[in-house]
Amino acid sequence: MEKGSERSILIAGAGPVGLTLALELARRGLRPRIVAKAKGPTPANESRALGVNARTLTLLEECGATPMILHKARRINRFRIASRGKQLLTVDTARLRWRYSPLYALPQGETENILLGLLSRLHIAPEWQTAVEAVSGDVEKPQVTLRRADGATETVSPDILVGADGAHSVVRENCGFAFPGDSMDMPFYLADYRYIHPVETNYAEGNFLNPGVLARIPVSEDTLRYISTREDYETLIEHPTDVRDRPWVSSFRISFRHVETMGRGNVFLAGDAAHVHSPIGARGMNLGIEDACWLAWLISEGREAEYSDLRMPAIQTVIQATRRNTAFVTLSNPVLTTLRRLVLPWMKLFPASTRAVLRTISGRDTPAPPWIPGAK
Ligand SMILES: Cc1cc2nc3c(=O)[nH]c(=O)nc-3n(C[C@H](O)[C@H](O)[C@H](O)COP(=O)(O)OP(=O)(O)OC[C@H]3O[C@@H](n4cnc5c(N)ncnc54)[C@H](O)[C@@H]3O)c2cc1C
Repeated sequence: MEKGSERSILIAGAGPVGLTLALELARRGLRPRIVAKAKGPTPANESRALGVNARTLTLLEECGATPMILHKARRINRFRIASRGKQLLTVDTARLRWRYSPLYALPQGETENILLGLLSRLHIAPEWQTAVEAVSGDVEKPQVTLRRADGATETVSPDILVGADGAHSVVRENCGFAFPGDSMDMPFYLADYRYIHPVETNYAEGNFLNPGVLARIPVSEDTLRYISTREDYETLIEHPTDVRDRPWVSSFRISFRHVETMGRGNVFLAGDAAHVHSPIGARGMNLGIEDACWLAWLISEGREAEYSDLRMPAIQTVIQATRRNTAFVTLSNPVLTTLRRLVLPWMKLFPASTRAVLRTISGRDTPAPPWIPGAK
């Protein structure tokens, strides 16, 4: 197969996944074109994908993003689990001798801005407000219609088309990829609270309210995210200090879906375009960044036909783990919630089980990147 540099590559989408793909291609000397429907990166007030895991930090070492992320992100040293405010279990990550702690917190827009800055050093910039309107023709040589904000259209026929255009991907829908799965009925509610003083940000906590759950995750030195399955969750928050404002409030429903193949002909999918699942475990963006890094490596080697076979097992592993964890966190049967409350404190006697949980949180349950020497 022809290696990358002579071929034209169009990336649809400039979220964390499209930006990572562009950067990983560009640092290897390829010149992708990247277009996005959005006006720019994720706005600063919408923290969205907060958790950056150890696998992502390993993957982004070679493009130079990792030290920048570590400089800005908050390291999560402890994961606390409580039941109606009573502590059941604390998992401490400070004693792990891993290269990176399992999880760090950085708002999605800040991660995107780091990637954008590095990409601009390689003289590549996304074309914002340029949407893929339709993809037609053969998947071996797709015809892509782009529409800009002023209404002007352009049709291009790239050698390689990558859909990193999010959960409602036009590339996926127009190129005949099925997207089977199911949705949970239960809504989730979310609010970021900004406080007048700095707050403790080195731990994350999940509090089982029976019924429902309320999680507390650090966003920045003065901001915490609360996420819950209960509509009245805001009345149940014990604020650490006086509230300044609520920069972001949202609610959403969760689906578990993934494509059956990540590539058809010369069309490939990455990130939310290929898989969506619950945010519990903070895997969505991280798994998508992993897709992008694998795809860039394979394209540069002329081996992109192997992408789907290499990625699908990882996608299935993560979706299964996320499904299990989401079911565990959202249990409503009183017998099972009592059992959960009784069993969790004993987990500290079994270090192997907490280590296995931390391996999953850190993203080390998928194959290590073979192009990074020593990566685990
Ligand atoms: C509340 C919440 C919390 C989350 N927390 C975490 C977390 O802690 N850790 C984690 O890893 N993940 C988390 N996620 C998931 C994470 O936000 C997504 O997995 C991630 O944003 C996916 O990135 P992406 O680049 O694939 O897609 P997106 O971020 O959705 O980006 C899609 C891009 O495609 C562009 N686009 C869309 N349509 C078109 C089109 N027709 N043509 C051209 N461009 C188009 C958009 O403008 C955008 O640039 C969370 C999600 C939610 C909702």
